[in-house]
Amino acid sequence: MQQDGLEENCGMQIESGVSLKPYNTFGLPAVARTLVRVTSDADVRQVVDHPELGRAPKFVLGGGSNIILTRDMPQLVLKVEVRGMRLVQERTNAWIVEAGAGENWHDFVAWTLAQGWPGLENLALIPGTVGAAPVQNIGAYGVELKDRFESLDAVDLVTGRSVTLHESICAFGYRDSVFKHSLAGRSVITRVRFRLPRPWQPVIGYLDLERKIAETGIAAPSAQQIFDWICAIRRAKLPDPALVGNAGSFFKNPVVTPEQCRDIIGRDPEIVHYPMPDGSVKLAAGWMIDACGWKGKSVGQAAVYEKQALVLVNRGGAIGSEVMTLARAIQESVYGRFGIRLEPEPVVV
Ligand SMILES: Cc1cc2nc3c(=O)[nH]c(=O)nc-3n(C[C@H](O)[C@H](O)[C@H](O)COP(=O)(O)OP(=O)(O)OC[C@H]3O[C@@H](n4cnc5c(N)ncnc54)[C@H](O)[C@@H]3O)c2cc1C
Repeated sequence: MQQDGLEENCGMQIESGVSLKPYNTFGLPAVARTLVRVTSDADVRQVVDHPELGRAPKFVLGGGSNIILTRDMPQLVLKVEVRGMRLVQERTNAWIVEAGAGENWHDFVAWTLAQGWPGLENLALIPGTVGAAPVQNIGAYGVELKDRFESLDAVDLVTGRSVTLHESICAFGYRDSVFKHSLAGRSVITRVRFRLPRPWQPVIGYLDLERKIAETGIAAPSAQQIFDWICAIRRAKLPDPALVGNAGSFFKNPVVTPEQCRDIIGRDPEIVHYPMPDGSVKLAAGWMIDACGWKGKSVGQAAVYEKQALVLVNRGGAIGSEVMTLARAIQESVYGRFGIRLEPEPVVV
């Protein structure tokens, strides 16, 4: 039965002509021809087994905080709304905690702390859902998801089979995982489990946190203190997507060899760079964009954030093509000056 763009089909609600503007933090306009909300593995299987929906190309949507929508979506959009948070196991050396993929990431981090299971505090205030966190191996302030990862459940979009995947299969890298490669568009992550080490060890070797320690004189901060600091630091640096549309860092920080870095330092001695444990060097993409004079510049209503050149923002009414024209112009000028090709961090749809 079809009613106001909403169809009931074997208990599954199929919505048609759905505006995705409220569902992406950049606030870009796009319409999904068909959208289905999935709240369990069984819901995903029902879609896979459906005579028409099963065959349709699909796009999996979480909180829409890492996507750039450049057009209407002919694909079936599966909006992941699997809920639930629980302690799975208490080991002598770790707490194993699980959350449904549709849970809000920051709320989950706050909940684990409130329960007395610290370990995710450095990842506070990252927008989006728990289910998307493994896709790009979210990271901030010295911690990445892979450092706290136990396993995840996913449903295969071709076979409808539920599988449990461990770290070796997920192939986590810097803002990268198997879900951006061979499993891209192939599976819906429905639950993620985290291993929170006991005893808890703070991760505070990051410049902004060292500054907080120096300012406050708190040399041994609690997990809650670190959580509060991270929230304050992020609020001061990044635009709140509820007020100014954005997708966080628009480009990945490029990783180069020490030789390449030396070559760039020869030409640009002030370039901000971080030596990595594996010997490679990470360059600050925001610094390079700023050095090319992009801060505050715009294409239509898409602009480079005045306070942080790594973030592109929606000044109101921006469309995806404006964002991508701006992004390409930035890539060209950074390449022209530094010989480095910047890679977008969000998924361009
Ligand atoms: C202000 C701001 C700050 C940010 N800061 C950081 C940061 O510090 N560190 C960082 O790493 N990221 C950061 N991000 C990026 C973003 O928050 C993360 O990438 C987040 O994990 C995206 O979650 P989401 O639910 O919004 O995913 P979406 O944007 O909905 O989707 C992103 C990708 O994941 C896929 N996906 C989503 N859910 C699932 C699922 N359940 N199963 C399979 N695939 C799925 C989608 O198909 C898409 O390819 C920031 C973004 C903003 C707006």
